[in-house]
Amino acid sequence: MALIDTFGRRINYLRLSVTDRCNLRCSYCMPEEGVEKLCHSDVLSYADLLRISAEAVAAGIEKIRVTGGEPLVRKGILQFLERLGALPGLKELVLTTNGLLLKEMAQGLRDAGVQRLNISLDSLQAEPFARITRGGELSRVLDGIDAAERAGFPAHKINVVVMRGVNDGEILDFVKLTLERPYAVRFIEYMPTSGDADWRDLCVPGAEIMERITAQYQIEETVNTDRSGPSKNFRIIGAPGSLGIITAMTGHFCDSCNRLRVTASGFAKGCLFSGDGVDLRPILATGNDALLRQEISRIVEAKPGRHQVTDEGVETAPFAMSRVGG
Ligand code: SAM
Ligand code: SF4
Repeated sequence: MALIDTFGRRINYLRLSVTDRCNLRCSYCMPEEGVEKLCHSDVLSYADLLRISAEAVAAGIEKIRVTGGEPLVRKGILQFLERLGALPGLKELVLTTNGLLLKEMAQGLRDAGVQRLNISLDSLQAEPFARITRGGELSRVLDGIDAAERAGFPAHKINVVVMRGVNDGEILDFVKLTLERPYAVRFIEYMPTSGDADWRDLCVPGAEIMERITAQYQIEETVNTDRSGPSKNFRIIGAPGSLGIITAMTGHFCDSCNRLRVTASGFAKGCLFSGDGVDLRPILATGNDALLRQEISRIVEAKPGRHQVTDEGVETAPFAMSRVGG
């Protein structure tokens, strides 16, 4: 089966948030204080997350990314991932993590059937890393990355949210990393999430990131595979690793968006920036999973053609990325 929206886009990728909790508090994702946590009863059980996923896969989803909050802080995550990975028809199970718990959990994740990891890492220096993450310890993440390599994961994707005056001075350091290691480093344009009026100052446009790289290095383009998402990919000639730029703001990739999102509280959304969506909990409560599949198809049909965050005069409701899963 295939899920095709009204704009002819094939929707085959589900981002599934399993928790809104996190062991970090990145400045670009959550405010320092005053984040309201979901209460326990509002977070979907693993059984319900599996029911939604099974129907989504039956409807046409081929790839599931487990995210959060920090997915590795939720108790029982390994057993859940094992069951998720066993869903018939699912081709790809991947996970996004801040890497803090990877040292302990990498082997378990691999054994549970997770095929690839995206690891968020916004600085290669201890002090800026601690500042951006509000207290995170860089060495733990680096140890986690090594542990995941030893556990047999293919080359990790490293996500870097680039912020002017915060970590944009490290762009070329991350580029150098791809000359040494086979990582796929992806630079992500900072997206406004908490209603910050100054987001344009922080956001370094993808074109500028590219200019800074090509001023120093010769690059060659690499090809995106079908479900690989919105990154424009390339490599420094001869490098074992690769690079990507995700221009979520300046060159929004809505035309090729293939995503559906489900939050930890069971809210399904067609677009990250849209307040529209459907609360799946009443449908879960009916016990009728065929209705779930119908609802998933309806959300795909209602998926907007593009987000409007960058449009002059348009205001989107503030939200914490940790709630929606990035
Ligand atoms: N805790 C995990 C992590 O940090 O990788 C998974 C959840 S996090 C919300 C998912 C992704 O969203 C991360 O790669 C993070 O860098 C990205 N993200 C969060 N806030 C963002 C923002 N304001 N702009 C761009 N990317 C953001
Ligand atoms: Fe936590 Fe990930 Fe958000 Fe950082 S980006 S606060 S690690 S959920």
